[in-house]
Amino acid sequence: MNFIETRGNDNVKPQEVTFSQAILSPSASFGGLYVPKNLPILNLNDIDKLRNLSYKEVASFVLNGIFEIDIDKNTFDEAVGLYDKFDDSKNPAPVVKVKDDLFVSELYHGPTRAFKDMALQPFGHILSTLAKKQGDNYLILAATSGDTGPAALNTFKNKSNIKVGCLYPDGGTSDVQRLQMVTEDGTNLKVIGIKGNFDDAQNALKNLLSSESFKEELKSLNIKLSAANSVNFGRIIFQIVYHFWSYIELLNQQEITLGEKIYLIVPSGNFGNALGAYYAKKMGLPIEKILIASNQNNILTHWINEGSYDLNNKQLIMTNSPAMDILKSSNIERILFDKFGSKRTKELMDDLNDKNCFSLDSNELSILREDFDATYCDDEYCKTTINKYLIDGYMMDPHTATCIKSYETIKEKDLKVVVYSTAEWTKFSPTVLNALKEDKVKYHDIEALNEIESKFNAKIPDVIKEVFSKEIIHKTVINKEDIQKALKDFIS
Ligand SMILES: *Cc1c(COP(=O)(O)O)cnc(C)c1O
Repeated sequence: MNFIETRGNDNVKPQEVTFSQAILSPSASFGGLYVPKNLPILNLNDIDKLRNLSYKEVASFVLNGIFEIDIDKNTFDEAVGLYDKFDDSKNPAPVVKVKDDLFVSELYHGPTRAFKDMALQPFGHILSTLAKKQGDNYLILAATSGDTGPAALNTFKNKSNIKVGCLYPDGGTSDVQRLQMVTEDGTNLKVIGIKGNFDDAQNALKNLLSSESFKEELKSLNIKLSAANSVNFGRIIFQIVYHFWSYIELLNQQEITLGEKIYLIVPSGNFGNALGAYYAKKMGLPIEKILIASNQNNILTHWINEGSYDLNNKQLIMTNSPAMDILKSSNIERILFDKFGSKRTKELMDDLNDKNCFSLDSNELSILREDFDATYCDDEYCKTTINKYLIDGYMMDPHTATCIKSYETIKEKDLKVVVYSTAEWTKFSPTVLNALKEDKVKYHDIEALNEIESKFNAKIPDVIKEVFSKEIIHKTVINKEDIQKALKDFIS
C-alpha cells in the first residue's frame, strides 16, 4: 500500500511514498498530510474470523496483512509485542459494560495511563528501528496538550539514532502530565514548556516541519526531522485496530450479532482517534455513526452540524478536559481528502490559512454527516456525569465524561454504544475529586489522588505515584519565538 498527499503533489516530492517514507518524513506537498492511496475492505466473513484472534494478531492482520505496510515481520511483531506491557497483555483495550446499551473501551492501560500509548508504543519502535537500520539520525518533534508528550518520551527514551523535542503549554496540563514529562531522564530527550497554549505548540511544530531553513541546518548536523503527532500516519494506522477490537469484544461478549451496527463515541481534539474510527467504518466495520464529543472548545461540533470551520473570534478556553483544548484539529484534513479529493481539500485548507475559516456547501455537509454527528458539553455537565456514573460503580476521567452527553442527546437509534475512554482518572484527579465531592476546592494532584484512593477504593498505578518523588530534570520554559533556538541548542 502506498501513500498520497491530501493537497495534491507539487512535482518536487514523489507522487507516492511507502508507509516507511510517510512516517519518516511526514510533511507532504503544500503543507498537506499523507493518506493511504486506497483503503482495503473487509467483509463480514473476514470480521467473523477476527473473533478468535488476540489483539496482536488482529493488529497484524489489519496492518501487515491487508494494509501491507512495508515493515518487516520481525520489527512489526516486536512493535505490537509492546502491548504485552499493558495491564492485561491479552487484552490491552478491554471493553467494559456500564449499562445495557453502553460500553466503555478503556484505551488507557499502557505505561503512561492515556490512550496515546496505544499508537505511540508500537509506532516508536518502528520509527526508531527504521532510523537505526538506515543509519540516520532523527529529531522527533512532539507538541502536546499533555498526553502525547509523556507517551512519546516513554516510547523513544534512550533509543539510538533518535532525539525527541517535546513542547508542552506551560500551565495547560495537569500536574501528573507535567511531572511525567519533566522528570523523564532519557539522555536523548528535551522537554520545553512554552508560554502559550497547545495550538501555539502545534503551530510551532508544523512550521518547523515545513521550514526548509530549519531542515537545512539539521542536515548540516546530519539530522533528519519527523513528528510524533497524529499528523504522522504511523500513529493513525495503529488507531484503526482498536475500533475493530471493540466490535470483536462486543461479538465475543454476545452483546451483538455479526453485522449489527453500533455507535462509536470519540472524545476528540486533533481527530486522530475519530479518523481511525472513520477508516474502520470505511473498511467495512458495521458502525452506524461516529459521534464526536467536544468540550467548550466546540469548533468540531459546529463544523459537523453547520459545515463551517471558523477560527475567527475563537479564543481557546482552558477546560477540565485539557487534551481536547484544541481549535486547529489536524486530522479533519484527512476526512476532507477522503470525501472531497485533493483539489477541494487544498482549497479549503488555503481558506483556513488565509481567512481563518472554511465552509462546506450544503451537499458536502450532508456527506460529512453520513458518518458523523457531534455535540459538546461544559465542565459542569462533565463533573455531574463523573459523579452520577460513580454511583453506578464506574469511575471515568473528564475526557471520557464528555462522551456521555453525546450518548444521552444525539444517539438516534436503539443500538449499542462504545464510548472511548482516553485517560485514566489518575491523570486528572483534582477534577474527579471535585466531581465526587461536589466542591470547587483547588486540589493538588497528589492530595486528590490520595483522597480518592482511600475514600473510593480506587487503585493508583505505581507509574503515577512515582512521578511525585522523581527528580525534575527539564526546567526550560520559554516564549514560542525561542523554540527553534532552544531545539538547536539541544541537538548541537
Ligand atoms: C489526545 C487525547 C484526546 C484527543 O484525541 P484526538 O485523537 O487528538 O482527537 C482525548 N482525550 C485524551 C485524554 C487525549 O490524551
